[in-house]
Amino acid sequence: MPSRILKGGCFCGETTYSINVPETLPLLEGTTHHSPHCVIDHCDTCRRTSGSFFHAWILVPESWITIISLPKEGENSKLVRFESSPHVRRSFCGRCGTHLFYEKEDRWIKISGIEEKVRLVDVTIGSLDEESLAQVDLVKPSMHVWWKDGISWVKDMFASEGGKKGFGGLRKYVSGDGGINAEEA
Ligand SMILES: [Zn+2]
Repeated sequence: MPSRILKGGCFCGETTYSINVPETLPLLEGTTHHSPHCVIDHCDTCRRTSGSFFHAWILVPESWITIISLPKEGENSKLVRFESSPHVRRSFCGRCGTHLFYEKEDRWIKISGIEEKVRLVDVTIGSLDEESLAQVDLVKPSMHVWWKDGISWVKDMFASEGGKKGFGGLRKYVSGDGGINAEEA
C-alpha cells in the first residue's frame, strides 16, 4: 500500500527522522481520532521544556518513525533523553537544543487494521521540514489538550481568534494523551 512520508529533524541537522504514514489513516480505538492526529498542548511541562506558550505535537505509532542520528566523527549521538515525569521521556538534541519526541511508557492503544496494540509517540510539529508542514491534512492540529493548565490570557487569545473557524474553534480537552480517555473541556 502506498504511504506518505513526513520528514523532520533538529536545527543543527544531527538528528533527523521520518514518519511513514499509511495511505489509509487508522482510527484510534475508542475515539473519533484518526492517526496521525495533532494537538496544541497547554500543559505546564510542555510550556517549560519548549520555552513557549504551548507546544504542538503530531501523535503517531512508534513503528512509523525512523530516527537517524549522524554524530560528528569521534562523537556519540547528541540525542538526549530525560524523564520529565514518571514513565515519560522527552528527547532533544544536545547540540542545538531542539525538542523532538515525547514517549510515555504505558500509552499503548489499538488502532484499526493492526492486531497488536501500538505505542503512540509525540513528535514536535515545529521540527518538521517545510515540505512536510505543507501537508496540512496530516499536520494541522485538531484539538487543544491540557486546556485546564493553559495560561488564561493565551486561552483568551484562542477564544477571540477566528471564533469557530480558527484554532479557538477546536475541541478542547481538560487533560492530555491526545484526547484519549480525556474529558472535553
Ligand atoms: Zn541538533
